Amino acid sequence: MAAPTPATLAAFEAAKGFMPTHEGLALYEAAGQAAGLGLPLLEVGTYCGRSTLLIADAARAAGVTAITVDHHRGSEEQQPGWEYHDPSVVDPETGLMDTLPTFRRTLHKAGLEDHVIAMVGRSPQVAKAWSGPLGLVFVDGGHTDEHASGDYEGWAPHLADGGLLLIHDVFPDPADGGQAPYRIYLRALASGAFAEVSVTGSLRVLRRTGKGI
Ligand code: SAH
Ligand code: MG
Repeated sequence: MAAPTPATLAAFEAAKGFMPTHEGLALYEAAGQAAGLGLPLLEVGTYCGRSTLLIADAARAAGVTAITVDHHRGSEEQQPGWEYHDPSVVDPETGLMDTLPTFRRTLHKAGLEDHVIAMVGRSPQVAKAWSGPLGLVFVDGGHTDEHASGDYEGWAPHLADGGLLLIHDVFPDPADGGQAPYRIYLRALASGAFAEVSVTGSLRVLRRTGKGI
């Protein structure tokens, strides 16, 4: 199994964020496979760049580019007063969350800046302005149905044939977490355009095998 460089793995483990290491290693493996298509690898949900580092490492190894999309204002559950809030990523001037500076430091420290394009904006709006084929779409953005389906509808159609669709935070049992990512996972399978490749924790890897998303 392909693995990130020890330096990237150490940077990943030190970075702020929400992805456990065993899922990160599966993300890296999938990103490496998808990078073989020679197309950009896209992530929705940069946050502070934890998962981005692994996609960027796989992109560097294959000579492709990682693209990561986020408005950097945080998801619902990351806002002040909510479970996943981190006061150190609030901009004191605006009082709003701003994870972009932390993300840039994370990427710089890991030496991966040259392999990543950061797109700052709302995922459906960025998707509308995008027209090229992608080797990988990694959905790890907002967890409401509106956001998860917007990510799926906006980005999955850009996947090349044989490209990989990854969905994070898929919890079939509602006791384990919100259901929106699970619902887009079921929708992708039901479309007939995807076949499941692997399951690691809450990370699902699907391969695009047909049209009709
Ligand atoms: N991949 C990260 C975690 C992402 S958290 C890690 O491994 O640590 C989810 C991110 O999605 C947040 O940073 C939030 O700002 C972003 N997000 C939520 N909804 C969004 C939307 N509609 N458009 C762009 N970004 C969004
Ligand atoms: Mg996640």
